[in-house]
Amino acid sequence: MKCTVCDSEAGVFDSEMHLFRCDRCGHTFTKLPKDAREKFGAEYYDESHKNWFDHPNIPLFARAAAAIEKSRGPQVVALLDVGCGRGDFLKWLHAKRPNWKLTGLDLSPNDLGDIPFIQGDVFAAQLEDKYDAITMFSLIAHLEDNRPFFARMRTLLNDGGILVINTFNTDSLIFRIARMLKKFGLVSPFQRLYSHHHLQHYSKKSIREILVRSGFEIVEHQCHNYPVQAVDVPRSNKLIESLFRGFAGLIFLVSDPLGLGVEHTVVCRPTP
Ligand SMILES: [Zn+2]
Repeated sequence: MKCTVCDSEAGVFDSEMHLFRCDRCGHTFTKLPKDAREKFGAEYYDESHKNWFDHPNIPLFARAAAAIEKSRGPQVVALLDVGCGRGDFLKWLHAKRPNWKLTGLDLSPNDLGDIPFIQGDVFAAQLEDKYDAITMFSLIAHLEDNRPFFARMRTLLNDGGILVINTFNTDSLIFRIARMLKKFGLVSPFQRLYSHHHLQHYSKKSIREILVRSGFEIVEHQCHNYPVQAVDVPRSNKLIESLFRGFAGLIFLVSDPLGLGVEHTVVCRPTP
């Protein structure tokens, strides 16, 4: 199997979970049968990922807004949020920067109130020609065809435009611990972190590699955590839920100062 980032030969990483891993760039990816793919309906927001959507990552939103302002200065910014979901980031940003021209795009239908929303994908949707900033939070892990997607992002950005991407970090402490525990037969953390819910699992090297190959230069790359209340834990049993949350909370506490947070956020711009 070819690596979905760098085209090197990737070996089987976990056959039961359809996972492959590239030794060259450290990228891991999931190759699922077509009928096993995830749907993004009400259940996704209200049940299986309820904690995530109930606790938006405000420090991440502030970090993204600051990075865009640092790059673009005080001017009005035309911004597209790809995979905006229910618009948590855009609603927050609209309150903080009311003069920015915001647009949300998502595959599923959403109501963002005053903020323009387009339902569709980045290839078929009727979008503006160019944007000053494009953001995407927790989106790129879901993409099967990641390289055409980044090439499209490059064409949608103005010269000097800025792209802010956030996704899970497989070099983080929690991923490392989950891989180690799997060797001792405790597979649950591994199976949750690499669940079919995500198809592309980026290492620090592979996220940079795909961006550079797609015509971007990296401006910032930071590893961090998200609010522990947002961790999606098994909700079948209160004790198990508390154990999972306690485990995640402890690892978040230790990993943050080490720069081994569970997510990474990359700010980049088109290479001149
Ligand atoms: Zn690779």
